[in-house]
Amino acid sequence: MELMPDATLTSLQLPPCALLINGQWRQSAHSFPVVDPANGQVLAQVASASLDDAAEALSAATNAFTHWRRSTATERSQLLQRWHQLMLQQRERLAQLLCAEQGKPISEARAEIDYAASYLNWFAGEALRLEGDWQHPSVAGRQLLNIPEPVGVVLALTPWNFPAAMVTRKLGAALAAGCTVLLKPAESTPLTALALAELAMEAGIAPGVIQVLPCATPDPLAAFLIASPQVAKVSFTGSTGVGRLLMQQSATTLKRLSLELGGNAPVLVFADADLDAAVTGIMAAKFRNAGQTCICINRVLADAKIAPELEQRLAAAVMALQVGAGQVDTVQIGPLISAKAVQKVQQLVEGAILQGARLVCQQRLPAALQPGPAGGYFFPPTMLADVTMQMGICQQEIFGPVLTLQTFTDEAQALQLANQTDGGLAAYLYGGDEKRNYRLARQLTAGMVGINATAISDARIPFGGVGSAGFGREGSKYGVADYLQLKHLCWELAE
Ligand code: NAD
Repeated sequence: MELMPDATLTSLQLPPCALLINGQWRQSAHSFPVVDPANGQVLAQVASASLDDAAEALSAATNAFTHWRRSTATERSQLLQRWHQLMLQQRERLAQLLCAEQGKPISEARAEIDYAASYLNWFAGEALRLEGDWQHPSVAGRQLLNIPEPVGVVLALTPWNFPAAMVTRKLGAALAAGCTVLLKPAESTPLTALALAELAMEAGIAPGVIQVLPCATPDPLAAFLIASPQVAKVSFTGSTGVGRLLMQQSATTLKRLSLELGGNAPVLVFADADLDAAVTGIMAAKFRNAGQTCICINRVLADAKIAPELEQRLAAAVMALQVGAGQVDTVQIGPLISAKAVQKVQQLVEGAILQGARLVCQQRLPAALQPGPAGGYFFPPTMLADVTMQMGICQQEIFGPVLTLQTFTDEAQALQLANQTDGGLAAYLYGGDEKRNYRLARQLTAGMVGINATAISDARIPFGGVGSAGFGREGSKYGVADYLQLKHLCWELAE
C-alpha cells in the first residue's frame, strides 16, 4: 500500500500562525504546536491568546460593531461574496492545510472547502433578504415597524472535525446579520481558521469585524469572554458536555446561545430497501472523516429478514476501505484526531465485545500505521454485530471507523430502538414504502432525517438537533435569525 503523500501535492502554505485582533496579526507570549495526526509531526507553532489578548479583541469587536452594524446589507453581501471567491481560488491550498492538521482524506478536505465556501455564498444572499415588517396600527396616525437588528458581538467556538465549514457556517451568518465576531477555533486545527481569516482580510472585511483567538487551553479564555456583558451571543459547535457547561456560564449575563452538539444517529434499513443504495449510503455516512462527524451513523438497525445479507455486504465494504495518510489520493480513512481518540474507540469496541457483541471483521493495519513513536493515530475499520442499547458503543458517539449492527423485527421495534437516545441530530432510513418512510421520519427523535439518502448537509438546510444534540439552526434562511433581534418602533406621526 502506498503511504507517502502524493508527489503532486505541493508543500503547505501556512497562514500567519498568530492572533488576529483589529485587523493586525499579533504574536503572544505563549504558543502551542499543531501536529499532523497521520505522523505526529509538528506542522506549526501557533500563538496562544491570553486573557489580556481576549480583552483587547473584545474591545476591537465592540468598537467595530458600531460601524459594521450600520453598513448596508449590499456591502456585507459583496464582502461575503469576495471572501467566498477567494476561498475557491485557494481551494487546493486550504484543502491541504485542512488535510494536514485534521487528517481527513484530501478528497474530503477539498469537498469541505467547497461546502464551507458555499455557506459564504449562501449568507451573501441571505444578507440581501433580511426583512422586517409594518403593521396596521390600532390608533390612527401611528406607524408600527418591526426591524431586525444584529445582536452584537458574537463568540464563536468551533470544533476540530470540520475546521473550515464550522467557521464559515457561523461567521457567514453573523456577518450577514451585522454582528462582529471573536472566533476561537479548536486547538488541534487552528491553521485552516487562520487561513480563512487571512482571506477575509484580503476580501476587504474591515478590521475588528473578525478576531481570531487560537488558544491552547480554551476554558479560562471562553469563561472570561462569556462573563462579559459585551458579548451578546455564544455560538458553539462541539461536544454535549462542553455545551452544557457553556449554558451554565451564560446564565449570569443571559447570553443568546446556539448549541450544535453531538449526535447518536441511527439508520433504519427495511426489508424492502434498495440494498445497493443502502450500503453505499451507510458506508459514506459511517466512514466520512473516519467516523468523526456529528451526523455519522452510529447505529445500523436492520430488519432481521435482510440483516444477514446486509451484514455480509457491509463487511466486504469495510474490509475494502483504504487506510492511510489523508494526503494519498486513494485513501478513504485517515487517522483519528489524537491518541486519546484512538484509545476511546478501542475501549468502546472492547467493552462491547465483553458485553456480547460479535466482531464481524476488523482490518489489520500495516506496521507503518500501527501506533508508535512516529505518531499516527490510526484505527482499523471494524464492524460489530449483535450490539445492544445497553452497550456504551450505542449510547455515545463512537467518533471512529467502527460500524455497529443490530436487528429489529417490526416497525414499532425499529422506532423504539432508534429513539433510545436523549437527543438527536440526524437519523436516516432506507425503505421502499414511502408512506412508512414518511410516518417514521415524522416520529424519529432528530433534527434532520435522510430518507433513502445520507448526504444531507447543504448550506440551504436548517442544520441542528433536538434534546441533548442542542438547539438553534445553522445554514438556511433560519441561520441568520439566531444573530438578529427584533426591535419594534411605535411611531406617533403628527397628521
Ligand atoms: P469540544 O467540545 O471538545 O470542543 C469544541 C470547541 O470548544 C473547541 O474550540 C474547544 O477548544 C472548545 N472548548 C472545549 N472545552 C471548552 C470549555 N471548557 N470552554 C469553552 N470552550 C471549550 O468538541 P470537539 O471534540 O472539538 O468536537 C467534536 C464534537 O463536536 C462532537 O461531539 C461532534 O458531534 C460535535 N459536532 C457537532 C456538530 C453539529 O453541527 N451539531 C458539528 C461538528 C461537530
